[in-house]
Amino acid sequence: MPKDIRAFTIEELTEEIIQLGFPKFRAKQIYSWVQEKCVSSFDEMTNIPLAMRNVLSEKFEFLDCKINTKLVSEIDGTVKYLFELFDGEYVESVVMKYKYGYSICVSSQVGCKMGCTFCASAIGGFVRNLSAGEMLSEVFTAQKDLGVKINHLVLMGTGEPLDNFDNVLRFIELLTDENGQNMSIRHISLSTCGIVPKIYELADRRLGITLSVSLHAPNNQIRSKSMPVNIKYNIEELLTACLYYENVTGRRISFEYAMIKGVNDSDAAAKELASRLKGTLCHVNLIPVNNVRERNYEKSTKERQSRFAVILEENGITATVRRTLGSDINASCGQLRASKRKTGD
Ligand code: SAH
Repeated sequence: MPKDIRAFTIEELTEEIIQLGFPKFRAKQIYSWVQEKCVSSFDEMTNIPLAMRNVLSEKFEFLDCKINTKLVSEIDGTVKYLFELFDGEYVESVVMKYKYGYSICVSSQVGCKMGCTFCASAIGGFVRNLSAGEMLSEVFTAQKDLGVKINHLVLMGTGEPLDNFDNVLRFIELLTDENGQNMSIRHISLSTCGIVPKIYELADRRLGITLSVSLHAPNNQIRSKSMPVNIKYNIEELLTACLYYENVTGRRISFEYAMIKGVNDSDAAAKELASRLKGTLCHVNLIPVNNVRERNYEKSTKERQSRFAVILEENGITATVRRTLGSDINASCGQLRASKRKTGD
């Protein structure tokens, strides 16, 4: 089976090119076409001899994401893509425009194993990991379609990035390579539901990625009900790992907290959360839970959200109620794919 050319680092590609009997300098040219100019075929590599392009196209391939559906928010211009992968599976990406540029939210798996009860991505279970090349293709396809350079990345789409650790780290390595897209590592955030051993491993890589942790509850009792991962790695273990991450990287952690009416949004929950997070270098993002058709959770009221934020602030924890982008196009990841699966079209 041909190999996905986008997944190769320059060193690995050089090795392959030498093995095929071609001069070493060709690897650099090819790498630049793939990672910097983001081509999708060998035909576009105009400085590579035709005979060599023919050999390359037998040995390698481009696992492109094809745009199946594109939705543009009339409210804020947020763009949501449903991409079709080479094997007919679907993933979603969202591109958001901010004052500082464009940011893309990328999916790292088809489906998800984690089973969070409020999340659309969990519906239908896990199918497979995305390769590094496929994640790059999400970025490249969106860039090409929009005609813009995307300079921020959030790994907050479908899937648990720390459950696809090697491919995700390779993706980040390629995307930040100065001979490729040269995205700043400071512009990359990764969101996890809390796979504790992998948080330690990520910290030890000392990459300086911003870590977002999906906390969504102040204690084990509430968290274990909606997030099965908490049964394996409880909140104490998770917060200890977060402290380690902060200490090693010096980066502030962002805790995500989806507010669900009557479940995790009481004053007592806010106080408990604040006391747990005291002393950590962190920020809490309060998000009104998105209605997912298959789930019967309700959003907390605006007043509840503000009150919750005030209690956190009063107890020394910085918090913001997150603005929702693209609410008219179901921009939260998993929702479009779930509806595609339902209608089967
Ligand atoms: N697996 C990773 C990243 C994917 S989900 C993680 O768990 O962090 C991205 C974020 O959206 C997570 O914080 C997740 O908990 C949150 N999320 C999932 N479903 C949601 C919903 N219905 N409403 C609000 N946030 C949701």
